[in-house]
Amino acid sequence: MNIIKILLKQLFLRPATNMFPAKYAPESATDFLKKVGDKSITLINPVAVPDRYRGKISYNREDCTGCKLCIRVCPTKAIEFIPDEKKIKIFVSRCCFCSQCNDICPSNCLSMTSEFMLSNYDKFADDLIVTH
Ligand code: SF4
Ligand code: SF4
Repeated sequence: MNIIKILLKQLFLRPATNMFPAKYAPESATDFLKKVGDKSITLINPVAVPDRYRGKISYNREDCTGCKLCIRVCPTKAIEFIPDEKKIKIFVSRCCFCSQCNDICPSNCLSMTSEFMLSNYDKFADDLIVTH
């Protein structure tokens, strides 16, 4: 296919990028979010994440035996041991989503979810500390 044909074809294709959360960057993020809040505009949904996507970690506290293997393999020291309870807590703001803790856990109590909207002004916000 010659270059002219390719260019013409491109003109009629839809953009490959997902316009999430809005088609154009808003002048004011605050105004934009207010409008989303009062439903005068709607967000463009993100595309579905692929299978085996590594998003926010999930922790099944019940099944955790407190073996600390996850802490030993975590390259970013995102996991802290709670000695009194023999359980862990995970600081998502430090996590690099490598999934090594998930792979090594003998009790299968860690998993990577598809949740990726994790931005926050406070790195110690409740949403960013996984305890159960
Ligand atoms: S996914 Fe990787 S960086 Fe995140 S808590 Fe597990 S081992 Fe640490
Ligand atoms: S590797 Fe699994 S069982 Fe061991 S402390 Fe971590 S989460 Fe708990």
